[in-house]
Amino acid sequence: MKALITGGAGFLGSHLAEALLARGDEVYVLDNLSTGSIENIEPLKASPRFRYTIDSVMNEPVTAELIDRVDVVFHLAAAVGVRLIVESPVNTIETNVHGTEMVLKLANKKKKKVLIASTSEVYGKSDTVPFREDADLVLGPTSKGRWSYACSKAIDEFLGLAYHKEKRLPVVVVRLFNTVGPRQTGRYGMVIPNFVKQALLGHPLTVFGDGSQTRCFTYVGDVVGALVALATHPDAVGQVFNIGNDGDEISILALAERVKARTRSQSPIELVTYDKAYEAGFEDMPRRVPDLTKLRTLIGYEPQVHLDEILDRVIAFFESDKARA
Ligand code: UDP
Repeated sequence: MKALITGGAGFLGSHLAEALLARGDEVYVLDNLSTGSIENIEPLKASPRFRYTIDSVMNEPVTAELIDRVDVVFHLAAAVGVRLIVESPVNTIETNVHGTEMVLKLANKKKKKVLIASTSEVYGKSDTVPFREDADLVLGPTSKGRWSYACSKAIDEFLGLAYHKEKRLPVVVVRLFNTVGPRQTGRYGMVIPNFVKQALLGHPLTVFGDGSQTRCFTYVGDVVGALVALATHPDAVGQVFNIGNDGDEISILALAERVKARTRSQSPIELVTYDKAYEAGFEDMPRRVPDLTKLRTLIGYEPQVHLDEILDRVIAFFESDKARA
């Protein structure tokens, strides 16, 4: 197939581009390098089936032309990372809402399939774990910046599903659960690259809150496999799917211990209040576990890479020359 990946120079986008090229697909990347980087796509440039454009999805003529050339759009361009979101809420809301609006409007002209990357953040403070796609979303108040991310992504989902219902546009929505792996930078606050870097440098591992909050980390390769399978499965259209790993739920404090053990680091573990880490009154999600029934049933999905292996691959990445802060 011919695919456009918005945000294709990002961590997930560049892994997806690599996988599509390996399948023999033609890949176009559109990225404004806000959080992505040219290094991520450097090795892909050698392929004659790879093209990239450094620009914003908000640039209508550029995005329109790229969408015209492809069969499917993987819309991954978005403001990501809790730290970035708390620091730049205006940019988060505008990027996420207007970017998706633009992609859907242009894709609709030629009825090109769009896969929208949403997030497990949309489940918010819900304690009905594991999270099912048809569950209620429980967001905090608008005075707490964190929830603007979930809300902006929920709007993206509504808009995508509305295009499908009202205009018959083939749209698939995916909710990603803490995707991790090599090339993810710690710059925007993501916990695994941060802990690994801290451990390797002998710095304290900064656990936010009391560390009892849990997450399920999903290997980027497993996510990419699911994205490709969903984009090519006719029955995925018009639906929302969780993509995650339901086997390795771990508290952030236990994660810090695990990273220390696997790096053989002597670093201390330091508890940092949420107020200090993010902003006063910051609310975290206490637990986040995906229900994967829908994904398993449709595409036979099973996460292949589990936490220790994920950590070892991330550690190897940061130990290699290529790793940067
Ligand atoms: N976290 C932490 N130390 C860090 C970065 C993050 O304790 O240096 C915590 C964060 O508060 C959250 C969890 O780790 O509870 C996962 O954070 P991340 O930003 O990776 O993803 P989130 O699940 O918040 O989207």
